[in-house]
Amino acid sequence: MEKISSKYINTELCTECGGRCCKQCGGIFAPEQFEDLSVEGLVKTIIENNYSIDWWEGSPVPDEERMRTIYIRTRNVDQPIIDPSWAGTACTLFIPGKGCRLSFEKRPLECQCVVPDWDKDTGEYTCIISTEDRADKKQLSIRWLPHQDVLEEVADKLWEYEE
Ligand code: SF4
Ligand code: SF4
Repeated sequence: MEKISSKYINTELCTECGGRCCKQCGGIFAPEQFEDLSVEGLVKTIIENNYSIDWWEGSPVPDEERMRTIYIRTRNVDQPIIDPSWAGTACTLFIPGKGCRLSFEKRPLECQCVVPDWDKDTGEYTCIISTEDRADKKQLSIRWLPHQDVLEEVADKLWEYEE
């Protein structure tokens, strides 16, 4: 996949903030970040690395009938491996006071493309996910569209695994 530069990294601001984004939800991967996109390969990777199955309700593109569009993200604390609900708990890979367990290159594309920002007038953090890198939730769901048959099988196997 295209290499994402570290142009958005702002260690000073993120250290000051203490990881608000990581305390709310895990980040979404792009399919190009997985070497093995087979059912067996993805099931193994998800279980071994503490990732989760989540989805976009319906289709992220117009004029397409679809119940859901599955993608893979990092797992949230105290949440199941199949986790479409937004519980607002932290990403399991977040270490309070230290940050992400993963090196920048290994982080989900969504995490690599968060642009840290702070509004000096309101004192609010105004970080957004860069759209030019197609790394927001909608664009990442679109990237996962060609893999939906595989991901439905992965979801079936993970249901069995958690039972
Ligand atoms: S990206 Fe924004 S919310 Fe996340 S740690 Fe940095 S400043 Fe905080
Ligand atoms: S993978 Fe790392 S950067 Fe992404 S949400 Fe989890 S702790 Fe934060």
